[in-house]
Amino acid sequence: MSSSDFFTKFSDEASCKAYFKARRELEHSTCKQCGSLHTYWQEKENRWRCKECKHAMGLKKGTVMENSNLNYKVWLWSLYFVTLTKKGFSALELQRLVGHRRYEPIWGLMQKIRVAMGHRDEKYTLDGFIEMDEGFFEGHRKKDEEGLRTKPAKELDRQVKAIVAVSTTPIITGEDKKGRPITKPGYLKISVVQSLSKTDIAYEAEKIVAQTSYVTTDGKTSYRTLNDICGNHTAIVVKDKKQVIKIFPWVHIAISNAKKKILGLHHSVKDIYMQNYLNEFCYKFNRRYFGIKMFDRLMVAALEKPWYKS
Ligand SMILES: [Zn+2]
Repeated sequence: MSSSDFFTKFSDEASCKAYFKARRELEHSTCKQCGSLHTYWQEKENRWRCKECKHAMGLKKGTVMENSNLNYKVWLWSLYFVTLTKKGFSALELQRLVGHRRYEPIWGLMQKIRVAMGHRDEKYTLDGFIEMDEGFFEGHRKKDEEGLRTKPAKELDRQVKAIVAVSTTPIITGEDKKGRPITKPGYLKISVVQSLSKTDIAYEAEKIVAQTSYVTTDGKTSYRTLNDICGNHTAIVVKDKKQVIKIFPWVHIAISNAKKKILGLHHSVKDIYMQNYLNEFCYKFNRRYFGIKMFDRLMVAALEKPWYKS
């Protein structure tokens, strides 16, 4: 949908609310409690009600908007703006764009959208040829009571650790000018892990890759666990660091682009929210060819039940 079409169609609160309602109508034509097909809409209460068992189904319930006081226009416009650019917006920029007077609710809205994006991507596992490696992202910790940042002694402990996996498709056999294999990236997943131990890697890898996939990792012993998770695990011991980029080109490009984007746009991200920002990066990367369909797809993710896990 072009911007002029979008803002003509969704110019006010009523048109935005009507759109949300239309998108959920189908889902609520059946009562979730008793299965009855006789439900009706109560405008004042913003909900559907079952004629048989009187079960109520709120318009926002179970969506990304549940428990939010922001109006439908702010939500719809935000979902649209988020899909508009590859780079995205900071909460402050979005606050100006949607014309809201307070920063905090908009920041919260963006985090919820990022959670919904991650939840959508969790439905898929990577298959085929996969490059897997670990990535380190600069996260900021909360200040302690005396206002000092709690800094772990080691540099490595200060960074947010993540497992990064990219599925690839070989295009032709051979190498490019930089000596990298000529492959095309498919889909990307980045999962934050507590540590790079065998147990933590196994837990995340099981959710990321399909059992039929061919996974290539470096020679670290903690990746040996992949032998049990995917049928085909190749560990390549890389002695020369310059060779890493040739063996795992896409995973390193993805890590470097994610770092640039997150730092460039948001400057500092608290480590506990890092996964949300990575969700947005992966979601957009995985749908980079969707074009104008992006908004519609993000609506699917935002309205999906349940968007969070209790
Ligand atoms: Zn019912």
